[in-house]
Amino acid sequence: MPNLYIPQYPSCNTNKCIHSTTVTYPGFPFPPYTPLYPSYHHVQAYHHSFATHFELYPYIRFNHSLESAYWVGDASNGFWELSISTDGPREEIIPLNNTLAHDLRHSSRITRHFDHLAVAIGRNHYPKFPVWADDAATNEWLRNRKGRRIMHSIYFREPEEFAGKIILVVGAGASGADIVIQSSGHAKKVQLQSITFVVGGDG
Ligand SMILES: Cc1cc2nc3c(=O)[nH]c(=O)nc-3n(C[C@H](O)[C@H](O)[C@H](O)COP(=O)(O)OP(=O)(O)OC[C@H]3O[C@@H](n4cnc5c(N)ncnc54)[C@H](O)[C@@H]3O)c2cc1C
Repeated sequence: MPNLYIPQYPSCNTNKCIHSTTVTYPGFPFPPYTPLYPSYHHVQAYHHSFATHFELYPYIRFNHSLESAYWVGDASNGFWELSISTDGPREEIIPLNNTLAHDLRHSSRITRHFDHLAVAIGRNHYPKFPVWADDAATNEWLRNRKGRRIMHSIYFREPEEFAGKIILVVGAGASGADIVIQSSGHAKKVQLQSITFVVGGDG
C-alpha cells in the first residue's frame, strides 16, 4: 500500500472522552480499561471491532478513490453515477521537504450507480499553506538562522524535535492546542496565536 501521509502522530489522543457521542457509537462502548481519552491506536482498534461485529468489511473498499460523481436523472428520479479508480489513493500528501510530484493513479477505473451518496472526504484532510505576499522575504527569514522552519501541523510527529526552540503555533483548534501542550515541555518558549477564543475545538 502506498505510504499515505496522515496526521496520526504517536502521542495523538482524542480530546473528547469515550463517553462522548463524538467518540463512541451508540450502544457500542469501548472495551473495559480503555483510557478516558484514548490514543488513535485504541480508536483504530475500536473501529475495527465495530466493523467486524456488524460484518461491515464486505461493504468497504479500501484504496479506492472517487474521481467524479454525477446525478443522472431529474429532481424526483435518478441515481448517482460514480467513477472510481481501484488501484490506490488518488494522491499522496507529500512529506515535508520531499520534492516528488503527486502520484496520480488513473489506470483502472470502474463506474457504479448508487441511490445515495455520502461525501466524507475530510474538509481538513489536505494541508493548506498561506501564500506569502513576499516569498523572498520569507526565504530570507528562513535562511537567517539555521533550523528555522515553517511547518503544517500534519507533519507534527514528536514534541522532542522542538527542544530548546521558540515556537509560534498559529490556530487554536485541536491540532494547534495539542501541539502547544505537547511541545511546551520541550521547547524554550511556545506562543499561541489565534483569532478565536475557543481553544482545542474539533480539529
Ligand atoms: C489532537 C486531535 C484530537 C481530536 N480529538 C477528537 C475527538 O476527541 N473527537 C472527535 O470527534 N474528533 C476529534 N478530532 C478531530 C477528528 O480527528 C477529525 O475531525 C476527523 O478525523 C475528521 O474525520 P473525517 O472522516 O471527516 O475526515 P478524514 O479523517 O480527513 O478522512 C477523510 C478520508 O477521505 C479520503 N478521501 C479524500 N478524498 C477522497 C476521494 N476522492 N476518494 C476516496 N477517498 C477520499 C481520505 O484519504 C481520508 O481517508 C481530533 C483531532 C485532533 C488533531
